[in-house]
Amino acid sequence: MRIDLHTHSSRSDGTDTPTELVEAAKAASLDVVALTDHDTTAGWDEAAIAGERFGVTVVPGAELSCRLNGIQIHLLGYRFDRAEPEFARERNLLRDDRERRAELIVQRCRELGAPITWERVRQIAGDASIGRPHVASALVEAGVVASVDEAFSSDWLADGGRAYVDKYALDPYRALELLRASGGVAVFAHPAAGRRGRIVTDDQIADLAKAGLRGIEVDHVDHDAAARDRIRGLAGELGLVPTGSSDYHGGRKTVRIGQNTTAPEAYEALFA
Ligand code: AMP
Ligand code: FE
Ligand code: FE
Ligand code: ZN
Repeated sequence: MRIDLHTHSSRSDGTDTPTELVEAAKAASLDVVALTDHDTTAGWDEAAIAGERFGVTVVPGAELSCRLNGIQIHLLGYRFDRAEPEFARERNLLRDDRERRAELIVQRCRELGAPITWERVRQIAGDASIGRPHVASALVEAGVVASVDEAFSSDWLADGGRAYVDKYALDPYRALELLRASGGVAVFAHPAAGRRGRIVTDDQIADLAKAGLRGIEVDHVDHDAAARDRIRGLAGELGLVPTGSSDYHGGRKTVRIGQNTTAPEAYEALFA
């Protein structure tokens, strides 16, 4: 069984439609793929239909933007009831604030001399839960930077970078409670991805584990071998299920779908 529990479609900052993403999962010989767009479940129905068509088990999920003591963290939520009103309302708030903030980021980029427009960024995002990668694509298109990765330098979009603007994010304890109340399972995404900004301490992860966190991403492209060993050890200590996943974003990142995978026993334990 090949299992990838973290991917993004064009409903957030990936470039594949949910159908194309499931087709790519099939082509990569995956048996299970989770769709975890940022703060939205808009791709679930299309992905489910594609799952039937291509014979791939689709796990519906979302990657929730959270902030803990000023540190941005991402929680992956799986198989929750998306109709649960309080959680649905929070996802709406998260998406609405992404719009406000993306427009401000574009404004800052323009003030810094980048010839991009809000209209174009909105067009690139389409119906997506908008994010910095859409602005990054506009910066690449305008020839300001050579790649999406370069757009995430401190000159532009990186956390604390010149064009950076904060967005609304959930308290992770509230996110865990919303997930619990809607029947979902929570996994800490890329906890040691230091390249993206500050990371939380082992003690903070231990506290989240006590509050209902079920799993933690070990094998992720932004974790080097030392980080993987460390997080795997921590998972063992805290009784968290270790997962692995690609964090596939289609053409916006170089990572391939299925590049990292979750062991079948871990998958079973997560959804038992
Ligand atoms: P946002 O959700 O708008 O704050 O943007 C965060 C997203 O940007 C992440 O989900 C990644 O897809 C992408 N991202 C963050 N840091 C980097 C980076 N250093 N290089 C490329 N993409 C990044
Ligand atoms: Fe992303
Ligand atoms: Fe993430
Ligand atoms: Zn992700």
